[in-house]
Amino acid sequence: MALLEVTDLDVHYGAIQALRGVSLKVEEGQVVTLVGSNGAGKTTTLRALSGLVRPSRGSIKLGGKEIAGLSPEVIVRLGMAHSPEGRGVFPQLTVRDNLELGAYIRNDSLDADIERAFVRFPRLKERASQLAGTLSGGEQQMLALVRALMCRPKLLLLDEPSLGLAPQIVQQIFAIIGELNKEGMTILLVEQNALMALRCAHIGYVLETGQVRTSGDAKQLAQTDTIRKAYLGID
Ligand code: ATP
Repeated sequence: MALLEVTDLDVHYGAIQALRGVSLKVEEGQVVTLVGSNGAGKTTTLRALSGLVRPSRGSIKLGGKEIAGLSPEVIVRLGMAHSPEGRGVFPQLTVRDNLELGAYIRNDSLDADIERAFVRFPRLKERASQLAGTLSGGEQQMLALVRALMCRPKLLLLDEPSLGLAPQIVQQIFAIIGELNKEGMTILLVEQNALMALRCAHIGYVLETGQVRTSGDAKQLAQTDTIRKAYLGID
């Protein structure tokens, strides 16, 4: 059984249909990426999965349990964490407070998880009592990612983690995604940076105007001529 199985998902914003029959699967231990141009429906897919928009049709199963239409809080408790586009850290709270909020569904002590995060991200440790709004873009992105991990998800949804970051920081973010996956985290990654995303993922889905245009082995997709021309800007 796949960890996540999405079947025939439709999402409407009023009269606008943003998703049309999207189906996809994420197996445990995989990195799966959704790529596609602006407005293709990538963010909407993640928002539907995490309960932020209600699908008008279709099924979303997490570990075999139907979750379509459940509230975001229930979905987090069932094991899906969402690091949203634009990072969404709380700028007026400290780094440590942001991490503690990420774990709001837990009642146990977070100290060990926070310490582990600080070993991985020494820059966040140095800035633990600094306001999140004073961090650089790359540091805020790392904070958003670690905050999503604080609820110990089974599946991590990442929306455009490389957006607006310098190339060197983008490399670091992708390296972290690879490390987390090696440690066993299952990840659904939405990216504009299609080539890097396909190189880091096991499986890729290409979305176009709200539909899955093609899908398959991510490394093979990155080699396909039509994909390289249409989505990767490579002739
Ligand atoms: P981007 O990379 O630009 O974020 P995307 O692939 O994530 O693009 P979505 O943001 O999911 O695409 O948008 C899919 C479609 O839904 C677009 O046509 C967009 O204009 C529309 N849309 C998204 N959010 C809303 C909203 N809140 N209200 C109305 N239409 C929306």
